[in-house]
Amino acid sequence: MSDADVIIIGAGMAGLTCGCLLAQKGLKVLMIEKNKKVGGCCTSFQKDGFSFDLSVQSIGECQRGGRVWSLLERLALLDQIRFIPLEPAREYHFPDFKVTQSSSLETHIENLSSFFPNERKGIEKVYGVLKKIFEEFSQIPSSLNWFDPSSFSSQYPLLSQYKDKTYKDLLNEWIFNPFLKTLLSIRSSYALLPPEEISIMGMAGIEMSYFNHGVSCVEGRVEELPLKMGEVLQKIEGHILMSHEVGQIIIEGKKAIGVRLKNGQEMTGKVIISNIDAHTTFFNLIGEDCLPSGFLSKLKGMRPSLSYYILYLGIEGGLDELSVSNNEVFFDDHLLKEYQTLYENRIPDGAPFYLLAPSKVNPSHAPKGESTLCLSVKAPYHLSPDWGQGVKDQLSQRLIAKTSAFVKDLKKRILVKVETTPKTIEGWTGNRWGAAYGWAQTPSQSGIYRLQRITPISNLYLTGHWTSPGGGMAGVVASGELTAEAVLSKFDR
Ligand SMILES: Cc1cc2nc3c(=O)[nH]c(=O)nc-3n(C[C@H](O)[C@H](O)[C@H](O)COP(=O)(O)OP(=O)(O)OC[C@H]3O[C@@H](n4cnc5c(N)ncnc54)[C@H](O)[C@@H]3O)c2cc1C
Repeated sequence: MSDADVIIIGAGMAGLTCGCLLAQKGLKVLMIEKNKKVGGCCTSFQKDGFSFDLSVQSIGECQRGGRVWSLLERLALLDQIRFIPLEPAREYHFPDFKVTQSSSLETHIENLSSFFPNERKGIEKVYGVLKKIFEEFSQIPSSLNWFDPSSFSSQYPLLSQYKDKTYKDLLNEWIFNPFLKTLLSIRSSYALLPPEEISIMGMAGIEMSYFNHGVSCVEGRVEELPLKMGEVLQKIEGHILMSHEVGQIIIEGKKAIGVRLKNGQEMTGKVIISNIDAHTTFFNLIGEDCLPSGFLSKLKGMRPSLSYYILYLGIEGGLDELSVSNNEVFFDDHLLKEYQTLYENRIPDGAPFYLLAPSKVNPSHAPKGESTLCLSVKAPYHLSPDWGQGVKDQLSQRLIAKTSAFVKDLKKRILVKVETTPKTIEGWTGNRWGAAYGWAQTPSQSGIYRLQRITPISNLYLTGHWTSPGGGMAGVVASGELTAEAVLSKFDR
């Protein structure tokens, strides 16, 4: 007798999605989470009357019919979680002008075409390809692990045509104006990659999960989403073991049969699902000896996405000087340049940064008459061996100085200050090097090349941003659903 039908390691958004859907189908689900609360990256914290969301600031697929919305409908949570649509979704500030981005694809295409009338056809073509690729990928069955090359290209023609290409390749095919290429690439930074490196599949995921069903943020604290899902799971007889870290996946006769916690306790399950860092899953919890050599060498060659340095501020007064909550500030339009420095483990002086003002849409984040800011830059984990206070102070001062051009007297208005480094993110989530989105979405790590949810170890599945389709809230909800489907079909068989 197993202790559970399904043991899920980690209670991030993907693990919770998967767990709730499996428990709804009557399976005995046990989730094991190392932290005191569920949610992983999707969490919030409080300081001196201010509330901050650790990471997730805007989410795709939350409006009616979107993937996240539909999940909440299935879990009867629509009356408990409210989404605030962000329209316009964001403002991009360049040295001499700013661009406002709509969350509606039609409006976005119209706006860009009015600036670049000769390129309208190309703009439409680029979004046409992204849309089609996103649709094709969404149709790949959850249980499919290995692809039959003969039928793959006829069933999924665009995925097949573009599977090895970067987004820059697609832009070069259809767009002439270099600045338009920059504008069309601007959101590749959500995957922490330049257009020269991000796969077309990765870019399709980012763009379409936003454009299909709008861009939103959660009303109140973002952690309400995973916390409510945890409550649903427990109501339908699922169990969550908090503050317990899994130290090993027990393998017997090439099959995963259970887990051993760091405190030595063992639990058995018919199926084990890992929602945690894939490197940790295979190298630390399992061990190289149990893995086939081809899989092992693929894994050793994979690289995680970059991370962030984030400065959260609670400040005096309102933020009328900003017209929207989500802003990104650029000092030039050469997107690749920043990454060249990041890959040398430095953050360039002229790095673009996110200037978010969450309390503008969520006034409950700050006491009356006060506001919150969340300032962040892309950051390599190895920038500093210990991320000590000296490094943090230097980065924070830089961010405050740059933000002062937008927020008057910022330095004098600061009441609360909290810093988050890649090391903090790694410590909280277990994601190696503080990777914000699992594996980087390069062509060789995206789409059909991403680690599959069915692993070479029998009874062991993956879910979350280290597997397909990839990072971001909409992506990991999709991953949780697809892993649940694959596991259910195993139980059905
Ligand atoms: C700074 C930052 C900003 C982001 N901004 C956005 C955004 O604006 N919009 C968006 O859509 N996405 C955003 N993302 C990405 C998004 O948050 C993630 O892709 C997604 O939440 C990952 O979910 P997950 O379920 O795959 O795993 P995770 O959230 O990583 O959860 C993994 C869980 O496993 C637990 N765990 C780890 N090891 C063990 C172990 N050995 N035993 C037990 N438990 C363990 C962890 O504690 C954690 O709870 C951001 C991410 C970061 C870091």
